[in-house]
Amino acid sequence: MRVNRKLCFFVTVLLFVIISPGMKSDSKAAIVNSGHQKYSYGELKSDLEEIEKKYGDYCQINVIGKSADARNLYEIVLGNADATKHLLVIGNLHAREYMTTTLCMKQIEYYLKNYENKISRKKVSTVLNEVAIHFIPSCNPDGTAISQFGFNAIKNSTLRKALRRMGGGSRRWKANARGVDLNRNWRVAFRRKGSPGGAGYHGKRAESEPETKALVRWVRRVEKQGKVVGVISYHSTGSILYGRCAGSATRYVKSQTYRMQKLARSMTGYSLMPTESIQQANSCSREYFLYRKHIPCITIEIGHGSCPLGAGEFPSIWRKNKNLVIREAMLFD
Ligand SMILES: [Zn+2]
Repeated sequence: MRVNRKLCFFVTVLLFVIISPGMKSDSKAAIVNSGHQKYSYGELKSDLEEIEKKYGDYCQINVIGKSADARNLYEIVLGNADATKHLLVIGNLHAREYMTTTLCMKQIEYYLKNYENKISRKKVSTVLNEVAIHFIPSCNPDGTAISQFGFNAIKNSTLRKALRRMGGGSRRWKANARGVDLNRNWRVAFRRKGSPGGAGYHGKRAESEPETKALVRWVRRVEKQGKVVGVISYHSTGSILYGRCAGSATRYVKSQTYRMQKLARSMTGYSLMPTESIQQANSCSREYFLYRKHIPCITIEIGHGSCPLGAGEFPSIWRKNKNLVIREAMLFD
């Protein structure tokens, strides 16, 4: 009997010694998997649950609206949600550019993991205490589902039938589930253009789409509690960036946008595109932020190949963009 008890104790200790290092490395394992090409809405949802479990003290996860096909539009706030300064990062306005969602999710996890550490000689928590970073990693989850899995991924049968009538393939879809281009649906020199389909249709009127409405509401809500110091909008492809302003921008918007693009350019090596006037870039989100809301804004186009980008491009995109968002926040802290 005594021997058995001793044996039991010995086996328990042995098991603990064998299992515990495994448990330790499990808790250190990354949540977001960037090693495969199709980072899906389902994955986004479960990764956010994991992130909330692991880093709930440092972030807030909200649903800011629903897409046309009833998917959640998630917002992840890093740091002090009551700060007076707020930086907005949006990804995936265009469906087939869904690697921007993977990038935003990796950035979120990386900044949270290093919350008490320094990045570029500054403590992350100190920066985020002054400037809250709000990520909306997927502004177009329906379009992404179309691009990744075809029209059958749309649950609402009325929407699905209408999509089939629009014609065209699904893989290179840019628009939402109603065939509206979510980067052309904004109340800034709005013009009706195109017809419902995979790309380029502005919609019947400005802010006609639930996804655009949710983002406009976001701006209004955050402006009530503080200042939106800047917007970083991730698109792909071409390794280029839009960071110039037309003459009608205020001096403040011009100078802050200049600082944002200069930093982004030095970190990524992406090349700066020429200015577009409001007339050329009518109905676009960047112009809405710059000229209607007077918020500094840059658009960053990641990757080289045609969209959807292959998984092999991610490591180099990650190297260039890993610290970019937190460094942009440091411009305002
Ligand atoms: Zn785009």
